[in-house]
Amino acid sequence: MYEHYWQQVGEKTTVVIRGWQHMSYFSDVSNICWFLEPELAKEIVRVHRVVGNAVTEGRHIIVGTGSSQLFLAALFALSPRDGPEPVSVVSQAPFYSSYPSMTDCLKSGLYKWAGDAQSYSKEGPYIELVTSPNNPDGNVRRSVVNRSEGTLVHDLAYYWPQYTPISSPADHELMLFTVSKSTGHAGMRIGWALVKDLEVAKRMIKFIELNTIGVSKDSQVRATKVLKAVSDSSEHAGSWEGVESFFKFSYRVMAERWKLLREAVNSSRIFSVPEYPPAHCNFLNRVFEPQPAFAWLKCERDIDDCESFLRGHKILARGGKHFGVSPKYVRVSMLDRDNNFNLFVKRLSTILL
Ligand code: PMP
Repeated sequence: MYEHYWQQVGEKTTVVIRGWQHMSYFSDVSNICWFLEPELAKEIVRVHRVVGNAVTEGRHIIVGTGSSQLFLAALFALSPRDGPEPVSVVSQAPFYSSYPSMTDCLKSGLYKWAGDAQSYSKEGPYIELVTSPNNPDGNVRRSVVNRSEGTLVHDLAYYWPQYTPISSPADHELMLFTVSKSTGHAGMRIGWALVKDLEVAKRMIKFIELNTIGVSKDSQVRATKVLKAVSDSSEHAGSWEGVESFFKFSYRVMAERWKLLREAVNSSRIFSVPEYPPAHCNFLNRVFEPQPAFAWLKCERDIDDCESFLRGHKILARGGKHFGVSPKYVRVSMLDRDNNFNLFVKRLSTILL
């Protein structure tokens, strides 16, 4: 979906890396995150200031190979060292389907997936993952367990104005962001964490050191250029050397896609999608309803397995059971290329029972 925009931007985000550049493991030995490129750190702070979606003051910035690596680093850093058993990791269902598999893939002695946060009642320490806006259903989320021995990881991959109104700068202990969903550059594999506590930050950095000895500098240089373009284009609200602001473009495309999706859903009468309460966005300075990166479709009537039902109509979606809920639900990406998205709504609107 974002390809069109970056094609318009053209050479402004072209990166040339010569054979002799960025050869060392080290980026800035004076920073606790010694593998973070200083220019990337500057652009991360800047984009959050421009958009107003996160507090960066008093935070340590940690770069990761996607926010996925930072998620694992956070589990490592937040797990008690000397616990009698692995700490429970929970998230309110429906949750991002990779959380259970990523948490348990190495059968760690430090942490263990414990399912839906809403039914979690065990005493003792736990880690709660709060995804807001949520993947898969797009809702604004808060922590639900709320006990003193818990620590929180806020996954804010979708807290950007093309998806949801930016109501205030997020101000949590440990926040995760990624270019994958903000600018669309998932293949760059760059994410960042904003971490208040120095000891937690140090342990996350240690994890990345043990895991990959830092993060690709080539990718960091490219991410710097892309984030700079996002901020430059936003600061020139109307047009930036003839190119529209990134968030204006992406907001407009998402709004148009949600309109088409809702029309298709209404015409079929077999499906429903959630309604979201409108809110004021301080960045776009307007009131709008969230327009999530995923459609959380529910098959109404007596269709119990929505994923299989849709597959029969040549629509590929991920069923609710992957997200810890009923198979009557499916998640469909709203971020595919125009052709695929248009085919999807066309097929959806022609399904009749
Ligand atoms: N968190 C959430 C909620 C996501 O939806 C995704 C991407 N699907 C990620 C993290 C992973 O992002 P990254 O590409 O930065 O590893």
